[in-house]
Formats: sequence, C-alpha cells, structure tokens
Amino acid sequence: MAENDLIKVKGIVTRSTQYKDNDKIISVLTAEYGLISVYCHGARSNKSKYLTSTRLFCYSEYVLNRKKDFYYIKEADYIEAFFDIVNSIDKLFLGQYFLEVVNEICVEGERQDGVLRLLLNSLYALSADLFPPTKIKSAFELRACVEMGVGPNVSNCRNCGVVGEEVYYFDLVNGDMLCKVCLMSYEEEQKYAYEKESMGTYIAVVPSVVVAIQYVSNSKIERLFSFMLNEEPFRDFSNICEKYLLHQVGKSFVTLDLYNEQIKK
Ligand SMILES: [Zn+2]
Repeated sequence: MAENDLIKVKGIVTRSTQYKDNDKIISVLTAEYGLISVYCHGARSNKSKYLTSTRLFCYSEYVLNRKKDFYYIKEADYIEAFFDIVNSIDKLFLGQYFLEVVNEICVEGERQDGVLRLLLNSLYALSADLFPPTKIKSAFELRACVEMGVGPNVSNCRNCGVVGEEVYYFDLVNGDMLCKVCLMSYEEEQKYAYEKESMGTYIAVVPSVVVAIQYVSNSKIERLFSFMLNEEPFRDFSNICEKYLLHQVGKSFVTLDLYNEQIKK
C-alpha cells in the first residue's frame, strides 16, 4: 500500500487514550490490518463527529489516512456499539477483560478475522444477555487460544494414546492430556529430574469437560456458546479455560482480577 492512501475498514475500538487537550489515540481491531493505532484529531470535543465512533466497545466503519506507521481518522460511520454492558459492573469488567486480551494477542499487519468475530460475538452475547457471563468468558478464553494458534489437543492421552478413560489430566503448558497411568509414571520420572520447573501443571478432567473443550475449539463462532455442562464439570471447564489462556499469554490481567473479585461479592 502506498503511503497517504485512504483506506476504508471496519473495526472495533479496543483501547482509547487521551492525547493533548482534545485528541485521542485509539486501538482498533480490524480483520484486514490486525490491531491498528488511529490518531483522532479533536475526538474529545463534545462537538466532534467522531465522539461515539472513538469510544471503547464501538464498532464502526472508518475511512483512514495512513502516514508512515500511523493512521489518521478521516470519517467514521457507527455500525454497532456494546455500551449496554456498562449497565452491570461485572459485565463491564468482563468486556474490558476481552479488550485487554485482544490488545495483548493481536498485532498490526496480521489478519485477525477470527479474533474480530470472536470479540464481536462475545460482546454481543454479553450485552444481549444471551448466555451467562461465566459461560461467555470461558468460551472466549479458550477460543482466543485457538485463534493464537495454541488450541488444545484433547483427543487422547498424548503419551500412550489411550481413549475412553473416565478421567484425564489436562496439561496447562502443552494444551494436551495424560491418562492417570502416564501422569503417575511421568511424575515419578520428574522426581529425579534436575529441571523440576519444566514439569507441567495438570488439572483433572472428566469426559464431558473434554467434549466441551473440543466443542469450543472447533465450533463455528456463531455457535460458540451452545454447549451444555452441569455445574460441577462447568466449574472445572471454566478453571481450565482461564488458566490455560493465562499460561499461554504469560501474564495476568487487571480487569480479570477485578471481574473475579466482583463476582465473589
Ligand atoms: Zn497414557
């Protein structure tokens, strides 16, 4: 693309930073260009025509002017916003957590069709109360790992290949599973190994949880939340999704801590 070209692109605002007296710099997740930074001149003024389209959670069609490494806003047409989630503090924290994850896993210059659709569908489900927030959260976390290219592989025990066991142990580092026999012999071996820190972290999973992991990893994004789990296996599933994402990203998120504190209240 030549410099100073105008481009038209749809995207959602994932970060908004005040700049100077009246300007904003926003991050916008797009399918075509990944996560881009856009300079919005005068966007903080109440009279600005970009006031809505430069707010967090707003999905718009933008006309942008690209100069060197930066994009400058020229026009913005609001398409949809998920502002309803601000009506509930736990949904707001969760929505902000989704944005924080996206800001962490996406970069400029790589197509992000999958992550964009995942984010839009998750925010829509959250704002329209289509599913319980905990369910949306877990599916978002696991599917984000798939979109990052580290989707789990839970078809059998990675060591001996056995299928049909009543319990497996999900490996948060490698995203696969061991059967009980292999885990025990593996742990026995590790006792004598020097590099103990290289040992994985395992969480027990029953078959229904394995099925849910497979479903969320492979389903169409539009059908992502249409899986059923009873309360107890759902807690295990939920625990795995959160821990697996954090392991894969290699950090925690302030908004996740806020959300988890909030739902305990
Ligand atoms: Zn095995």
